[in-house]
Amino acid sequence: MNVGGSVLYGTILKPKPEEIAAAAMQKPKTNKPMSILEAHFKFGHTGEVDVRKIAKAYGLGLKQGSLLRCESCAIANAKQKSVPCISEGKKATKPNQRVYLDQMTMKPPASVKITIRNKNMRLIVDEYTSMSFADFNPKKNGFINKLCATLYKWKQEGREVKYVRMDNAPENFKFIQIANGQIWKLNLTEEATGAGTPQRNSVVEKKFATHTARMRAMMSNAECEDTQRTYLVNEALNCAVMLDWLVVIEIDE
Ligand SMILES: [Zn+2]
Repeated sequence: MNVGGSVLYGTILKPKPEEIAAAAMQKPKTNKPMSILEAHFKFGHTGEVDVRKIAKAYGLGLKQGSLLRCESCAIANAKQKSVPCISEGKKATKPNQRVYLDQMTMKPPASVKITIRNKNMRLIVDEYTSMSFADFNPKKNGFINKLCATLYKWKQEGREVKYVRMDNAPENFKFIQIANGQIWKLNLTEEATGAGTPQRNSVVEKKFATHTARMRAMMSNAECEDTQRTYLVNEALNCAVMLDWLVVIEIDE
């Protein structure tokens, strides 16, 4: 599973995958109930309903009370533009049948004198499960081969992607061309959104908005300065993407 390959400036030590797996397998030493606010922080600033579902699914106790207000979310959401979610057409009926693809380019604030090397965040969202997967690249077309490899792996595992909803950015068409070419033979059907219908790709735009708001809330909660935020933005976004995987979804199978 591709969880994004951002390594920033060689200064951040990342745990090895086997270390993450070992940590995940370990039972917590104590299972003291958390306050809902603490759980909200730990689960990456997810909403109260989702926090409760996650805690229940993972057997974590919560203290009584409700999430009254998270200052960091309030600050993050104030900066957030709302994205209308418009769905149209026939919905996917199984995981990976249709994915939404888009990229955003990050710019540091004007006051910060460093650049973000992997400034292009590529996101795909599975329509059926709402799960999203990201990676970060210096160039806009940097995602192409990595995403082909991910989709190829999914196909080998019986989770084939059929339709790709995307906007008319040239790198998206290049991706489809390479994915369907001799090397990968992924047989994807592109569903490009026309110039006048950007809302058809709103599933992925909304996900970008969610991850960005949670990244801002984490940074705000950690009292990061603008320069620290710029150094950490890839890691924080990647963390927001992975914490979003905890959110419990119900699917009919
Ligand atoms: Zn929050």
